[in-house]
Amino acid sequence: MNLAYISHHACQDHDMGKHHPESPERLHAIQDRLIASGMEMLVTHYDAPEASFDQLNRVHDADYIRLIERSRPKEDRGVNWIDGDTAMCRATWPAALHSAGAAILGVDLVMEGKKHHAAFCCVRPPGHHAGRRSAGGFCFFNNVAVGAAHALEHHGLERVLIVDFDVHHGNGTEDIFTGDERVLFCSSFQHPFYPHSGADTDAPNIINLPLPSRTGGPEFRAAVEAAWLPRIEAFRPQLIVISAGFDGHAEDDMSHFTLREADYAWITRKLQEAARRHADERIVSCLEGGYELSPLGRSVSAHIDELIGHA
Ligand SMILES: [Zn+2]
Repeated sequence: MNLAYISHHACQDHDMGKHHPESPERLHAIQDRLIASGMEMLVTHYDAPEASFDQLNRVHDADYIRLIERSRPKEDRGVNWIDGDTAMCRATWPAALHSAGAAILGVDLVMEGKKHHAAFCCVRPPGHHAGRRSAGGFCFFNNVAVGAAHALEHHGLERVLIVDFDVHHGNGTEDIFTGDERVLFCSSFQHPFYPHSGADTDAPNIINLPLPSRTGGPEFRAAVEAAWLPRIEAFRPQLIVISAGFDGHAEDDMSHFTLREADYAWITRKLQEAARRHADERIVSCLEGGYELSPLGRSVSAHIDELIGHA
């Protein structure tokens, strides 16, 4: 079985301006690295469908979805700022629909289980800062939440694990699933840091891991082993969904973590081991952050190399 690699050309058309770090070049950097490493041959490409209104509505309020649709700029070259760092151009709406739709297709493919145990959704805009009725932090619709809700509502799963190792707290995902015992949400993040949330969450289904500036691989791994892995074992997830953000890399200026490719490979392996024990190997991973192009390409390659599983 090989890896389903899900993307869509619309994801490259979403453009928030020349100097914005969440740039279309991010997807090119990943694609180039996969080709250069020979891994491109080991994945099966899929075009992401658009998520439907009903699929989005499982995790976002109807009024919010309509507000985002209405916020598209009228002119071809126009940009409409939703918050201080999140903007819509004409191409953003379809890109956001295909990004969320990628998670839906990823879940369908691994649930079917005929061709793929794992899927990587190489999409943008990212999603984990999008709450039930809020955009922000470069995000409009919460892609991993849309995928997890599809697994619960459409495929009838009872336990879905979402792991978010982006350097920023997955505040949108927490907003959507707080108190929903069908979902265990684990988020590691630099603290204090944007979006300044998550340090004092006490919901039983949320395991936040606020870590200080300059956290490196050894500290990250020790924290994950202590705080997450025993809870994941006890939860026995039937599906693992990953908010795969790589902006905690030592070479990424977005944060002050000093993680390396090997650390992203390590966490991927740990999740894969859990998926083997509990979830028939099912993993759906969605790209979140990671802004320095070279370490992003290398880190995604390390992540995908593990997902392919050296089979
Ligand atoms: Zn981030």
